[in-house]
Amino acid sequence: MEFAPLSSWFPNNSNWNTEKKPLFIAGPCSAETPEQLMETCLEIAKNDKVQVLRAGIWKPRTRPNNFEGVGKVGLEWLLDVKKATGKLITTEVAKPEHVEEALKHEVDILWIGARSVVNPFTMQEIADSLKGVDVPVIVKNPINPDVALWMGGIERIYQAGINKMAALHRGFSSYGNTKYRNEPMWQLAIELKSKLPSLPLLCDPSHIGGKRELIYPISQKAMDLNYEGLMIETHRDPNEAWSDASQQVTPQRLAEILDKLVVRTGNL
Ligand code: PEP
Ligand code: MN
Repeated sequence: MEFAPLSSWFPNNSNWNTEKKPLFIAGPCSAETPEQLMETCLEIAKNDKVQVLRAGIWKPRTRPNNFEGVGKVGLEWLLDVKKATGKLITTEVAKPEHVEEALKHEVDILWIGARSVVNPFTMQEIADSLKGVDVPVIVKNPINPDVALWMGGIERIYQAGINKMAALHRGFSSYGNTKYRNEPMWQLAIELKSKLPSLPLLCDPSHIGGKRELIYPISQKAMDLNYEGLMIETHRDPNEAWSDASQQVTPQRLAEILDKLVVRTGNL
């Protein structure tokens, strides 16, 4: 399998250059209100290092009776953010209807979450809905430590004709309390990269760490391992976030983290 470089995700007139800088994606775990999303994203967008803004609108929660996302209306808010900031936007899709709605609303990049990647039927349905479509797709690792399942999800999307892809390492569930919310098990991501060398590898320190003080060290570790980018959950008021409050950082803290990171140049 041959994948396109991350630079191909950007319009021709963009000065983004994959050899010089990693891809930084930031934004709230969830879109909550139009004001929360816009205010957070305008603040993040002041930072030229951030190329893509994220927000979940369909939220796969482990247990019911939690906030499950604002749904389709959030796509309008994301489109407003795209127009106001000029950045690319990305959201999670978990079924063909999500893909269809997201594309209708000019979402630039789709991501598939850890709870979807575990299910080959879901992945095949999403893949089928992407046939003939030119959109970059980010595939998170499945919640369980299974490189073959992660690869299988990537292969299904690739076989639908998508070659603008990236793998996003968000850690793996384990039983009991550990330092991390999801154990990084770095060797699994490295194994995937060794099997698919042209596939860009990104890291999600927010879901690995689960706590904001771990975002910086995990991000630096990913940079030291030559990952090509990061996705960092960022919220205007993290403690008040409707999902994943303990792991989100403010736009100001995000800027400090990105400034402090020692970034390698060149590809993995
Ligand atoms: C998220 O990115 O907010 C999310 C739900 O992530 P994951 O699929 O990695 O749990
Ligand atoms: Mn989240």
